[in-house]
Formats: sequence, structure tokens, C-alpha cells
Amino acid sequence: MRNFLIAGNWKMNLRREESLKLARALVHTVPAESDAQVAVIPALVHLETVADAINGSPILLGSQNVSSEKKGAFTGEVSAAMLKEFGVKFVLVGHSERRHILGETDTFLNKKVNAVVNEGLIAILCVGELLEERQKNLTNEVVERQLNLGLAGLAPAAVEKGHLVIAYEPVWAIGTGQTASKEQAQEVHAFIRARLAARFSPQLANSVRIQYGGSAKKSNAQELLAQPDIDGLLVGGASLLAEEFAGIVQAAAVAKPGR
Ligand code: PEP
Repeated sequence: MRNFLIAGNWKMNLRREESLKLARALVHTVPAESDAQVAVIPALVHLETVADAINGSPILLGSQNVSSEKKGAFTGEVSAAMLKEFGVKFVLVGHSERRHILGETDTFLNKKVNAVVNEGLIAILCVGELLEERQKNLTNEVVERQLNLGLAGLAPAAVEKGHLVIAYEPVWAIGTGQTASKEQAQEVHAFIRARLAARFSPQLANSVRIQYGGSAKKSNAQELLAQPDIDGLLVGGASLLAEEFAGIVQAAAVAKPGR
């Protein structure tokens, strides 16, 4: 069965000392016995600091970005192998801020997905529609295109080993306080799972965790997590507050006991 994955994307919000303080606070609040996986995703330059702070705790480490290349003359880039040296387990690929602010394309992101998976790390491929696209009933079309292009060449064996997570993040819900309703989110999650079933197999699709992201917080975590195809949350703003994030982690422990 799929266990929940709750991940906090700290983006470019915290300085080193603040990252350290938050990581230490979470170590004290995230329960060791939970079935849910919990990950923090600090800025690249703080990976080592945070890795040290969470060492020995159940909290896992993620990276907000990765190079699409393995090695070589790529100034400013960091490879999946380098991330692995810091103990990184998860790598965000295709966050809407990178798609829409930095112009990363589906084809470029596909190289990143494969780079991550080939290094034995877990790619969290983020997909989601803009508000205009939802208003024009293009949500499924957009998500399907992002999945088709983003997952090109990905071996079923990698999916079977758990190296793929999908995060459905409607762009209009990110950082806006306007969370998708549980029905809206579930509908797209079910669609994503159906597309994964068509691409891989129903069995493999059932094993893939699909997170929801977009103004998730303590107060709405439980109802989102109670949906059959929502397998965790990717949290931005609310992950910067130890008490909020701990509340979300707590919701994951009670949403589907024994799952
Ligand atoms: C995100 O950036 O992935 C995100 C979901 O942000 P927020 O929770 O702030 O909407």
C-alpha cells in the first residue's frame, strides 16, 4: 500500500540559521513511529546544515532542483550524484515556479526526471494547470501533456522501485491561500492515476504516490488526505512554521489509519 509523503518545500525563504532552527524544531515534533514519510526541502546551499540537523530522526531530505546532466561544464548546476552525497532522497522536478518563472520545458524536465531516477533518487514530478487553463476546461489536457512528456523514457522498473512521485499542484492554488477543494483535487488525482495506468500498468499506477500541493495547511490537511487518490501533501508556506507543519504531519497519521 501507499504510505503518505508529507514534504515541506522551503523555497528561497530561509537563511542558514533559520533553516537550522526550523529543522531542529521539526526533529522534536515529528513522531518517530508514524507510517507517513516526512521530508524537508531546503535551499541547495543549506542541504548539509539541514542534513546534519535531521540526522538520526525520521525526517528525510529533498532538493528543490537538480541538473539535467550527469557531469561536466554546466556552470552553476548540481548533479543528482552530488545531491546524493548529502543524503538527499527526493528531488522536486517541474515545480510551477521553475516552469513558469524560469521557463523550464517539459522536455528539459524529462531529462531531470531521468537523471534523478538513474541515480537511485526519487523524482517528485510536479504537474498542474494555470487558472486560465482550468477556466477553459484544459486541466486534464495540460496534466496529461506534462505527464506524457515528463515521464518519457522512464523505465517501469524505476516506478516499481518507488522512484517516482507525482505532485498535483494547480498553479492557481500555490501560495494564494486558495486551496483546491477535496473534490477538485481528487478528480485530478484519479485522472493522473488513470494516465499512469495506461502508461505503465494499473498495478504500477496503484503503487505511485500522488501528492497534492497548493495552500495545504493544518486545517485542510485531513480532508485532503482522506481522498482515495491523495497520498500526501507538498507544502510551501505552511512548511515554514514548525507548528503548522507538525500539524499536517499529525493529520497524515490520523487520516487513514492502517493504510
Ligand atoms: C508549493 O510551492 O509547492 C506549494 C504548494 O506552496 P504553498 O503551499 O505555499 O501553496
